[in-house]
Amino acid sequence: MKITDLKCAVFGSNPMVRIVTDAGIDGYGEVEASKNYLKPHIMFYRDFILGQDPTDVERVMLNIRRVGAFKPWGSAVSAIEMALWDIAGKAAGLPVYKLLGGKVRDRVRVYNGAVRFPMSGASPEDYAENMRKMKNSPENFSIIKQGIAFHSQMPHQVPNFSYSDPVPGRWHRNRGLLTERGLNHIIACVEAMKEVLGDEIGLALDCGPGWTVPDTIRLAKALEPLNIMWLEDTITGDYTPYVLADVYREITRATSTPIHTGEQIYLRQNFRELIEGHAVNVIGPDPCDIGGIAELKWVAEYADLHGILMAPHGTGDGLFGLAALVQVCAAMPENYIAFEYPTGKPDWWYDIVDGLPDPIVVDSHIDVWDTPGMGVSFNEKAREYLPEGEEDFFD
Ligand SMILES: [Mg+2]
Repeated sequence: MKITDLKCAVFGSNPMVRIVTDAGIDGYGEVEASKNYLKPHIMFYRDFILGQDPTDVERVMLNIRRVGAFKPWGSAVSAIEMALWDIAGKAAGLPVYKLLGGKVRDRVRVYNGAVRFPMSGASPEDYAENMRKMKNSPENFSIIKQGIAFHSQMPHQVPNFSYSDPVPGRWHRNRGLLTERGLNHIIACVEAMKEVLGDEIGLALDCGPGWTVPDTIRLAKALEPLNIMWLEDTITGDYTPYVLADVYREITRATSTPIHTGEQIYLRQNFRELIEGHAVNVIGPDPCDIGGIAELKWVAEYADLHGILMAPHGTGDGLFGLAALVQVCAAMPENYIAFEYPTGKPDWWYDIVDGLPDPIVVDSHIDVWDTPGMGVSFNEKAREYLPEGEEDFFD
């Protein structure tokens, strides 16, 4: 079998990759909704992979893996990798998890990082109210993640929050030393959320990046009695093109609150210091950023050797990204906690994709399906949502 074409079309704001072969089998991969600008980067790899056998996934990947980087520049490579696995699975007549070593579990636990309700403000009452809504959502999530501090509106809405001037806009630019008032405000919001959740539902906190070491240790120690699931991305994180594992290690050593990072990190090599140095307790690579699902599986196995837990990121990965997460998480070792459940946005995504269970999430779990490849496909209605100029995507 040979690759005859690589195509890309942006559905809504998710770039979709389609790899076409001379055997009449095609494969799909998806890029996060926040990266609607990525088509030229995806098409850059076309000439690197044409003519190769897509079922030799690793051999194809060796051509393109080195020409990628941390988020957002690992997404194109990751989406191509997923499309290759989709083809390999379809060609073998097997679900992708079988090609990754077989499933370890029949259903995968997910956590809530995407089923959101608008926040009316950034007070403890606002956080409690928002948490009440998420607690009542029909997926019955057993873990809910909420953004606080630099990963929220707090720098803009809480007066005298830190010693830095708030920076508006995307990419999580805010950072600096918190005021005592800022730190107390964060703790009050977390206490209010825990009051709602009790000990039935785990609370994870997405915090930054942008924190200092002393502030992180103060927060982590203050929250120890609340048994938080994890503190995510305090020092580095979203759109930080480096890791700083040694800095994380200082924090992790100082507290019993679990420390988490890794969503923006590209390739196994860049997890080495975090894992070997026991710099965090939990890592959260995203299959759409790390370099694909086999890369994620490899890192999960290596983390397991070192007693580090897995909670993969996925909030913007869309429905094909969801399928990829289900396949790889079914095959993950027993250090697996849960992955971050992505939703289809806008809602019409659910009308154009076939193969997902209905309802998708029951009691915070998704049943692993047995369809060949990733097990999801576009139906005829998808053509209606093809953007202008990309009408030949399915041809
Ligand atoms: Mg995060």
